[in-house]
Amino acid sequence: MKWRNFLRGMGSVLGIFPGRKERRFDAFLNSLGEKLIKKRAQIPPHGGPVRPVNEYCAALEAWRNAIHEAHARGEPDWDNLIEAIDTVELSMKKSNLLYRLIYLGEKLRTKPCPIHKGHWSGCSPDPCPEGCSSGSDITGWLEEPR
Ligand SMILES: [Zn+2]
Repeated sequence: MKWRNFLRGMGSVLGIFPGRKERRFDAFLNSLGEKLIKKRAQIPPHGGPVRPVNEYCAALEAWRNAIHEAHARGEPDWDNLIEAIDTVELSMKKSNLLYRLIYLGEKLRTKPCPIHKGHWSGCSPDPCPEGCSSGSDITGWLEEPR
């Protein structure tokens, strides 16, 4: 880790952590680093708790069901909302893009494949020669560098 090497280097330059103290300092940094990594994993950028993806999916499904139940009870005219929710839900469940973004942690691909020209082109056991495949899916988009 860069910060660890930086601190160790600064300690050595200043003569603060010679010999055994340096080893104890390394152990301290390791312990601190592990604690910070665990803490950071719990705090997303917006400050809310990190939850497994299936919990978000369950919350969205519960919300969808509540809308459907309210509509079935004759609450306000939500025909358009119900239709929109169902359309979006089906699109999300079928989306290879969402799968790659959520489960594979991919960046959004921005360069269209020269062969498949930015269009998902089904599944194939043979990968695209230009590199737009993700598993067996031919995404139509070239993978971004990691
Ligand atoms: Zn391709």
